[in-house]
Amino acid sequence: MKDSNYLKERNAKSIWHPMAHPADSLNNPPTIVTEAEGTRISDVDGHQVVDAVGGLWNVNLGYSCEPVKAAIANQLDRLPYYSIFRGTSNDCVIELGDMLQDFFAPDGLTRAFYTSGGSDSVETALRLARQYHKIKGQESRTKYLSLKKGYHGTHFGGASVNGNANFRTAYEPLMPGCFHIPAPYTYRNPFNETDPESLAQLCLQALEDEIAFQGANTIAALIMEPILGAGGVIPPHESFMPGVRKICDQHGILLIADEVITAFGRTGSWTGSRHWGVKPDLMCTAKAITNGYFPFGAVMIADHVVEVFEGDTEGKAAIGHGYTYSGHPVGAAAAIACVTETLRLNVKDNAAALGQQLFEGLQKLYDDFDMIGDVRGGHGLMCALELVSERATKKPIDKVTPVKLQKAAYESGAMIRVSGPNVILSPPLVLTAEDVDTILAALRSGFQSL
Ligand code: PMP
Repeated sequence: MKDSNYLKERNAKSIWHPMAHPADSLNNPPTIVTEAEGTRISDVDGHQVVDAVGGLWNVNLGYSCEPVKAAIANQLDRLPYYSIFRGTSNDCVIELGDMLQDFFAPDGLTRAFYTSGGSDSVETALRLARQYHKIKGQESRTKYLSLKKGYHGTHFGGASVNGNANFRTAYEPLMPGCFHIPAPYTYRNPFNETDPESLAQLCLQALEDEIAFQGANTIAALIMEPILGAGGVIPPHESFMPGVRKICDQHGILLIADEVITAFGRTGSWTGSRHWGVKPDLMCTAKAITNGYFPFGAVMIADHVVEVFEGDTEGKAAIGHGYTYSGHPVGAAAAIACVTETLRLNVKDNAAALGQQLFEGLQKLYDDFDMIGDVRGGHGLMCALELVSERATKKPIDKVTPVKLQKAAYESGAMIRVSGPNVILSPPLVLTAEDVDTILAALRSGFQSL
């Protein structure tokens, strides 16, 4: 490894970072992470902290998951690559397909379409949704609905259904035919409604209103995260997703669950849809499917959608979509080991229990620091603090303070993520109670230092 001075000096002179201003990366050198073990990461200066970000919501089993590492190494030795485009397959994707069929059976999902990550999974689901309607002879169903505050990756399709201007404005014009409805975001919403159940009803009414306005027969699908993640961890009232499912059914609109974050246990249930008792028509997964060790994803497809595609006799269901790395054997081998470990360790239960401990600890911080306007969580290991400069008026925080908080918390033992006014916590699901205490103590000392 090159020495620390070289790495710090060269970083922003040779690369641009995703989700960063290139000039900011030059002026404020990032933390250079060089090693990791269990739930902890170490930087180039040897400082070790608990990773409260879990990589990027993906390292659910921590950094020392030997079965996944071994599966990758062995597969690289045996078959490092082969495509699964028409005419060829590999043993790993077939074995994984069977595993995913079992894993997602309670969600009613019976086929997998492999991708190389979350944005690819979203793109795949959006495309398959349009094609589904075309196969059925409903060519006019091409539009998409989604939630404001939703995050669906950064491909043009995903960015078009994305509900945050930060990921849209610089890249407009986006895809036509995408329409957004209000999110069930109790802290701030256009209805000034603070009761989660009433707000869920109002958002559902807005959805019905938009469908009536657009015409149901023009809409292909609605895409949503069961719990909004990157938009600031927004858990809806339990009536919301079932309500969306019902409305979609009434109007022949497919429901795409974007579970790039929530699949594989993060919410305390195996999937976010299952958490709310909903069966989606398509489900986007990625991230934790390989514990973040290899870029990989899968779109899971509901049985009734499968029937439409597989029953087509007119050639309309030929899939003109796929990636060089769809079904990468190393990714599939990693996923087989990862799903096996995920089930063996039953990480969803630890996510539920420690998610509660973390959420309660954050509520105590709320009592002590006025800068915290809202605490969100309560469904597994995904929590957020929304920072404000004045609690009474909910005046948004300035841009600098969250960054200072992040630095101070890091010095005190925890890597946290700040995104706009939100502190986002998404640690590995194999976290311990002591790790939770470390995260909370680091946050407390971060707030005290401001
Ligand atoms: N959908 C959701 C819900 C996500 O959270 C993300 C990434 N955070 C994506 C899609 C995009 O995934 P990727 O960054 O792997 O392309």
